[in-house]
Amino acid sequence: MNVYDLMDKYSKTNLILRKYRNSSMKYEELIRKSDALASYIIKRFDNNKMPIVVCGHKEHLMLVCFLSCTKSGHAYIPVDSSMSKERIKYIVENSNSKLIFNISDNKLHLDNIDIKNCAEIETIINSHATMIPDKIYRVQDEDIHYIICTSGSTGKPKGVKTTSNCLKSFVNWALTLWDYSEGTHYVFMNQAPFSFDLSVMDLYLSLYTGSTLFSIDNQMISNMKELFSYLKSSDINIWVSTPSFAEMCLTDINFNNNLLPRLKVMLFCGEVLTNNCVQKLQNRFKYISIINLYGPTEATVAVTAIKIDTELSSNVNPLPVGYIKNDCKLFIVEKNNSVLNNDEDCLEFNGVSYRILPEGEKGEIIISGKSVSPGYFNNNEISKNVFSKRIINGIENRYYKTEDEGYIKDNLLYYCGRIDSQIKLDGLRIELENIANSLREIEFIENAVVLPVKKENKLQYLAAVVTLNKVLLKKDFEVGLVIKEKLKNLLSNYMIPRKIIIKEHLPMTINGKINRRLLTEELK
Ligand code: AMP
Repeated sequence: MNVYDLMDKYSKTNLILRKYRNSSMKYEELIRKSDALASYIIKRFDNNKMPIVVCGHKEHLMLVCFLSCTKSGHAYIPVDSSMSKERIKYIVENSNSKLIFNISDNKLHLDNIDIKNCAEIETIINSHATMIPDKIYRVQDEDIHYIICTSGSTGKPKGVKTTSNCLKSFVNWALTLWDYSEGTHYVFMNQAPFSFDLSVMDLYLSLYTGSTLFSIDNQMISNMKELFSYLKSSDINIWVSTPSFAEMCLTDINFNNNLLPRLKVMLFCGEVLTNNCVQKLQNRFKYISIINLYGPTEATVAVTAIKIDTELSSNVNPLPVGYIKNDCKLFIVEKNNSVLNNDEDCLEFNGVSYRILPEGEKGEIIISGKSVSPGYFNNNEISKNVFSKRIINGIENRYYKTEDEGYIKDNLLYYCGRIDSQIKLDGLRIELENIANSLREIEFIENAVVLPVKKENKLQYLAAVVTLNKVLLKKDFEVGLVIKEKLKNLLSNYMIPRKIIIKEHLPMTINGKINRRLLTEELK
């Protein structure tokens, strides 16, 4: 059954789709309202299948808008209301969108674009209350289901097109990651904003399984007391977040089994999951499965996964990011400088050839298969550099060059950082994630980020920002000296950061990842 038919089925029951703050929404309400709104969109834009921007945060109406877009044949572009007006404007202008559902309080003014606020959306829903859109309009198969905007290296957002097939492939695989049995009803935690593709994991796993999505918002994330009292009322079974978010929760001793007695599975994705973090979670929550997933938005949320048991968390450091899903393939490559290689051993992106490396060797990670996006929306130039296609046995295979570095050992992928986090200091190549991993090996260090410090665009030195897992009765500079001394046993001298900064917490971005940009600013 497809997601639309499944939801129609759930709408005939009493199942609760959503809990957010002190209100809830049933599947019945989602279907009724999205049918009405989709009917309006079809009436107005029957011949124009442009994407539709939906701006808001965690409101129930966000989900109604998403579904009404796809039921009427339009991809939706989720935009979080915390984004700056310039960023929202850029996204809208590059989307060809003629309609915005603005659920937020932000006042948006854009020429020639119809912006509907909450009250107007509700009025439309009421005036189309009995209408049911024809199934032929539904987004399906190779149609674009949603477009999520990620930050490009230029700072300009790139809209990643995700097809219904990509989404289906992700969901079918993700449901095999724990002992899911059809008909089981779960409560999923939603931490990520809908503009970040991690949220696709909790949102669509909920929708496919008829489960409840329990959302937390920005305001709660900045107020632990409120967050914990809200979590206490949640009955969450499946936790979906970035590791940084879990680390933030772990700083409070009340984050344990008593707070979340029904927790069964924790799914982590988006950044490095450290051994420290896993071991703490394993101590606090005795009977849970912790799963590390890896993937970029361009390959639909995640393409590798592995359950991290106590044996792995205590014996393998850094942790692997997992086995590839069965309808995708991983390649580790390096730029090809010779012309002698056989086609079979190479992949090409925009005229540049990359040689496939043997197992165990470190290089750039390339993902191919059913989860790979067809490219960036309205951005062929950048798409060409990182997406490519090959026809194999009459079937089109898509490839995405991740700009992540890694290696494969015993079929397991290990992540080594972003390619652009490789820097040259005094002519020597350094991988920042390598240094961060060594810092995390020091017994009193909880987590670490290593950043290059530049002056007038020239690299001056490296700085490490670390959090500690215990109180050391020493001044910060003395702790810094101890860390440097310990690093001498783990790294070459030129890799030891000149500056060590100790912090209580690493700051998070709105998506829940470590905020490197803010830390870099602080170092200036
Ligand atoms: P995004 O497209 O915003 O979801 O970010 C994707 C990037 O996050 C990947 O290309 C990786 O650099 C990083 N990432 C995702 N999952 C993991 C993981 N499990 N461990 C380390 N880095 C990860």
